[in-house]
Amino acid sequence: MSKLVITFVCENRHDVESVTIDLDRLGQVSKEDIWRLRTKGSRCAKCGSAKLIYRTSYKK
Ligand SMILES: [Zn+2]
Repeated sequence: MSKLVITFVCENRHDVESVTIDLDRLGQVSKEDIWRLRTKGSRCAKCGSAKLIYRTSYKK
């Protein structure tokens, strides 16, 4: 459990972008930290939505 993968998804469940964080180096990250990783102003390339949520998963 050393890498956290954050996937930003639009309201229509299209994948918008994903970011991998090395938790061994950064330690725990807060929700605010996660939102800061999102490319500013990014929107879904498929439907144009800027309403994003994110999902997290761990990668060894
Ligand atoms: Zn979309």
